[in-house]
Amino acid sequence: MVVNSIHWFRKGLRLHDNPALQAAIRDADTVRCVYLLDPCFAGSSTVGINRWRFLLQSLEDLDNSLRKFASRLFVVRGQPTDIFPKLFKKWNITRLTFEYDSEPFGKERDAAIMKLAKKAGVEVIMKNSHTLYDLNKIIELNGNSPPLTYKRFQTIISKMALPKKPVETVTPEQMERCRTNISENHNEKYGVPSLEELGFSARNAPPVMWHGGESEALSRLDKHLERKAWVANYEKPRMNANSLLASPTGLSPYLRFGCLSCRLFFYRLLELYKTVKKNGTPPISLYGQLFWREFFYTAATNNARFDRMERNPICVQIPWDRNPEALAKWAEGKTGYPWIDAVMTQLRQEGWIHHLARHAVACFLTRGDLWISWESGMKVFDELLLDADFSVNAGSWMWLSCSAFFQQFFHCYCPVGFGRRMDPSGDYIRRYLPHLKNYPTKYIFEPWTAPESVQNEARCIVGVHYPCPMVNHGEASRLNVERMKQIYQQLSHYQGLSPLNDSTSSKRRRESSSSLETEDEELERTKSKYLCISE
Ligand code: FAD
Ligand code: MG
Repeated sequence: MVVNSIHWFRKGLRLHDNPALQAAIRDADTVRCVYLLDPCFAGSSTVGINRWRFLLQSLEDLDNSLRKFASRLFVVRGQPTDIFPKLFKKWNITRLTFEYDSEPFGKERDAAIMKLAKKAGVEVIMKNSHTLYDLNKIIELNGNSPPLTYKRFQTIISKMALPKKPVETVTPEQMERCRTNISENHNEKYGVPSLEELGFSARNAPPVMWHGGESEALSRLDKHLERKAWVANYEKPRMNANSLLASPTGLSPYLRFGCLSCRLFFYRLLELYKTVKKNGTPPISLYGQLFWREFFYTAATNNARFDRMERNPICVQIPWDRNPEALAKWAEGKTGYPWIDAVMTQLRQEGWIHHLARHAVACFLTRGDLWISWESGMKVFDELLLDADFSVNAGSWMWLSCSAFFQQFFHCYCPVGFGRRMDPSGDYIRRYLPHLKNYPTKYIFEPWTAPESVQNEARCIVGVHYPCPMVNHGEASRLNVERMKQIYQQLSHYQGLSPLNDSTSSKRRRESSSSLETEDEELERTKSKYLCISE
C-alpha cells in the first residue's frame, strides 16, 4: 500500500524530538511538512508584531533545514477545516500526523480535523511531545482532577516514571526516502510569508532581540547549560540588574513554540547534574521551572474556562473594577511609576520581561494598586509576550492576582521599593524611559518627590514630560488588601490554607534546593524580602 503523509506543524516547530514527524516518515512513500496560516486572520488577530515575526523566523528556519534534505516546508494559506479536505485529495494523502495539543482551542480544532480525516479515509497519528508528561495521567493519579497546589503536583510527579526520552532527530536519509517533487513556483505558492503579507509594516518593527527557530533554540540550550554548569561550580546564583534584560540564554519563547523540546531540555539538565554531582538522585528542584510549566498545563487542560474568571471552577470570583483608562495607562507604560512603566515598555518593545518584573506589573494591575481584572492583564501579555502561552499565562495571572492556587494576599509589591531593589542603579529605568535618564538615582524611582530644581536640571518635569503617579500606592494597596481579606473570609472552603502555609513551603523549598538552581529560583526564595506595602 502506498503511504502519503502530511505532518502538520503547529507548535513543535523542530526536527529534533518530534515523534509525530517520525510517525509521518515511518514506511512512507511521500511526506509533506505543512504549516497552515490564514493571512486574513493573522492581520486582525490580537498577537503583536514581535511574536508574528518570531513565528515567521521559526518557519523559515524549519524550511531551511528541510531544504538541506531536498525537501521544503509547505505554508498553506487558509483555515484547517477548509484546507485539509483539499490537500487530502490533491496529494492522495493516507496519513496525517501532528503533535497533541492540550489547550481547549487546540483540542476542538483537532477533533474537527480528525472527523474530516476519518471521512476521507486518512489515518491520524497524534503524539505527545509539548509537555514532559501525559497530562491526563497526572490528573488520573490525583483522583481525576488536576492538582491545584504546586506541592501536591510535585508529590504526584515524584511517584511517576521519568518523562519519555526525546526521539531521534530526523535525518537526511530518512527525508530523502520520502521526498516529494518541489515545484518551480513553491515559493509563490507555499513560501513562508513576509510580515507585510500579514499586514504589518516591517519598517516600523522594533529591533530583533530574540531570533525565532530551532537552530537558535539549540545553540541557546548549549549556552544555557554552560552557564548553569558554571554557576553550579563556581558561584552562587545572583540576581543583578542585567538579569532584567533579554538574555542570550533565555529559552521561554523557544519552549512556547516548540522550537526546543522540553524533554530534550529535561534530559540535558539531568546529564549536567550527573557530571557536576557524581552521585545522588537529582532533586526535583533541578527541573523547577519546567515543572511549573507542566503544573499550569495540567491545571488548564480540561478546563475550557481556564483563561476566564466567570464559570471557571478554580478561579475565585472577585468584583474587579472596570476602568479602561487606568488599564490603558498600565498597558502603555504611563502609570507614573517608573519601575512599572519601564517593565511595560520593555515588554512592548522586546516581547520578554523577567519573571519578577512580571510579578511586579501583574500585582500592580490587579490586587496591588489598580484592582483591575487579571483577564485584562493576561490579554495584554498575550498580545505582547513572545512566550505567551495559554496555560502558563492564564495560570500565572490567576496566581499573581490571588484568584487561584492559594497565593498569599496580604502583601503587595511596592512599585517603588521593589524596583529599587531589582535595579539599584536605576539604569534599567534609564534604558527604557529615556525621559528620565538625567534623574539622579535617588529620585528615579519616585520622580514626583524630586525638588523642582532637580526636575528642571533633569529636563523632565513630572506632570509635563513624565506622568504623575496614577495612584497613591500606600492607600490603594491597603484598601485592596482589605478587600481581598473580605473575599477570602467569605470563602469558607479556603480556610486552613492560610498564608502561613506558604512560608513553610518556601522553607521546605530552601531545604531541598540544589546547587544547580537558577537565579530565578534563588529569587523565588528570597522575594519575601521585596514584599512590602510601602517603603
Ligand atoms: P527560565 O527561568 O530559564 O525557565 C526555563 C523555562 O521554564 C521557561 O522558559 C518556561 O518555559 C518555564 N518557566 C519558568 N518559570 C516558569 C513559571 N513561573 N511558570 C511556568 N513556567 C515557567 N511563562 C511562559 O512561558 N509563558 C507565559 O505566557 C508566561 N506568562 C507569565 C505571566 C505572569 C503574570 C507571570 C508572573 C509569569 C509568566 N510566565 C510565563 C512565567 C515566567 O515568567 C517565564 O517563563 C520566564 O520569565 C521565562 O524566562 P526564561 O526563559 O529565562 O525562563
Ligand atoms: Mg532565565
